[in-house]
Amino acid sequence: MRRAPLLLLPVFLLAAVSAYPQAAATKVGSQPAQAVIAHPLLPARQEEIRPPVVGEPAPVPRIVLGAQTTRPMVALTFDLDMNQGMAAAARAGFRWINTDATSYLESTNVHATLFMTGMWAELYPAEARQLATNPNFEIGNHSYSHPAFHSPCYGLGSVSRTVQASQVQRAQQAIERVTGVAPQYFRFPGGCYDRSALDIVHAAGLIPVQWNVNSMDAFNAYPQQIAAAVLAGVKPGSIVVMHLMRANAPSSAAALRLIIPALQRRGYEFVTVSELLAAGPAIQPTDPREVVEAAPTRPMPTRAPQSCGWVSGIKGRVYICR
Ligand SMILES: [Zn+2]
Repeated sequence: MRRAPLLLLPVFLLAAVSAYPQAAATKVGSQPAQAVIAHPLLPARQEEIRPPVVGEPAPVPRIVLGAQTTRPMVALTFDLDMNQGMAAAARAGFRWINTDATSYLESTNVHATLFMTGMWAELYPAEARQLATNPNFEIGNHSYSHPAFHSPCYGLGSVSRTVQASQVQRAQQAIERVTGVAPQYFRFPGGCYDRSALDIVHAAGLIPVQWNVNSMDAFNAYPQQIAAAVLAGVKPGSIVVMHLMRANAPSSAAALRLIIPALQRRGYEFVTVSELLAAGPAIQPTDPREVVEAAPTRPMPTRAPQSCGWVSGIKGRVYICR
């Protein structure tokens, strides 16, 4: 039962999966630590507008990177990607959910925002409902099947503007039908967008939400590295991006066990995106072109691994290469 997903997995990971601003273009078999360090972090490094705090209610932000506040609060956000390739793997028995991470989040009672693809909600309706009905969690829209809304975007396939609009709507309908929750926020697949893509999301009544701290958990086998990236980046009002699909973010749960206690020791409160934006006006990008894109990165000149495969350990099964 496991053989088919194992054989197919590298293809799905490369062709299908989230393609976030780190190791997306890196072969699964290469060394994740080096790959992560070498990749650009465009959305995380955008210059930020910090609007002055005034008495009037803030207008709807064009796109949110974080919030302006001096209170020690942080919004952990998690993406749940799904596309046709991943769905095929799921039908072959593969599970794209990190229950170790979700159980830990539930046990700690932290607030968080989960950006769900519509296809993920349809594939895992019971899990989607459980997450969406947890009052600690806010649910966002992450498109229906995770295409690029602007290219290049780490190898994600591009679709027409019409399809982009339907991706937003289909996801909204699927998530609401499955969970009973209508998202207010949208996260672009891969974090890539342009002006027309922003217009499409706003026309659907949603607010685009990026991040200003990239956990670099995608394809990263090193929880200490993920935790270090988050702990170095978090400031009051930060939004952190992470993933909950397990196979393409294998160390997120272990990293959370480092991140959450460390931030709690610093006095941080974990909030949803809505709670964060209630505490202060949105921090927004300054780029007047309103474009975030990312070409697939060059292959890393790393030593080819001798072998890769799933290994069972005390924290469950992990995919490693030696
Ligand atoms: Zn994604």
